[in-house]
Amino acid sequence: MSLLVVGSVAYDAIETPFGKTDKIVGGAATYISYAASYFVDDIRLVAVVGDDFDFEVVKDLESRGVRTSGLQVKQGEKSFFWSGRYHNNMNSRDTLITELNVLGSFDPIIPDAYQDTDYVMLGNLQPLVQQQVLNRLNKRPKLVALDTMNFWISSVPEQLKATLAMIDVLMINDEEARQLSGDYSLVKAAKTIQAMGPKYLVIKKGEHGALLFHGENMFFAPALPLAQVFDPTGAGDTFAGGFMGYLAKTNDLSFENMKRAIVYGSAMASYCVERFGTERLTQLDEGVIENRIAAFKSLMHVAL
Ligand code: AMP
Repeated sequence: MSLLVVGSVAYDAIETPFGKTDKIVGGAATYISYAASYFVDDIRLVAVVGDDFDFEVVKDLESRGVRTSGLQVKQGEKSFFWSGRYHNNMNSRDTLITELNVLGSFDPIIPDAYQDTDYVMLGNLQPLVQQQVLNRLNKRPKLVALDTMNFWISSVPEQLKATLAMIDVLMINDEEARQLSGDYSLVKAAKTIQAMGPKYLVIKKGEHGALLFHGENMFFAPALPLAQVFDPTGAGDTFAGGFMGYLAKTNDLSFENMKRAIVYGSAMASYCVERFGTERLTQLDEGVIENRIAAFKSLMHVAL
């Protein structure tokens, strides 16, 4: 099945206790596309960059089955730039710089060749831009997932709620779920949020794993305990790419398969954090991914 990916394609500068990078390629749609490319060979990217972007990365994505006719290049303008610094525990970070540049006026144009897309992953963007993507699709896709962040929940809650009414899967972290719902209990938050529209809710808890809610069904997968987390940037997007990539590959929306997709998303995220930026994500193959799935299996298995 095909997967439409919309989101930032960016330059990032990252500081962690282990080191510091100059500008490296990042962005939510970049991480999502790399992760999903291990599962689907028809990924359709919609994003915007400036003419300062590293087009070798675009070629690399294309070589992995990512179609880029929906990647707009704005001549004479700069790509989105984000800089962040992680604290010693790696669980929290400070945003040092956000330069919207081309993203400030992003008009997501969907090429005609993308119209028949089955699965859609809307990376973190202004909610009205995410909504515009859905309004511009002639046919309702089979499954639409969306990621958002605290900034949009607090600054444009009504626009976000209108967008949530149009989607199937919301992927947010625990703090955001509490903020969006006003409920402290994540079980109550899940009910409140499902009533806003998304039938499925994924709550990411960083190193503490991820929860999936659907009606009365609930599932939890741990994160793989790692000896060293080098750079958590993009882990959430990589999770989303693995999750949606696996669903698009298997084309099965049963709750059992959604559970498997959560484990595949977690496995991809566990690789992402092992190196700076997208580096580790570009070096995987099916065997390496299946090794990590096996590690998750033994981590989660108990004879009772
Ligand atoms: P994550 O660590 O999963 O939150 O994703 C980090 C990625 O999101 C980085 O590569 C950034 O370029 C990108 N990013 C950060 N802030 C924004 C924003 N306001 N809008 C879109 N993308 C962003």
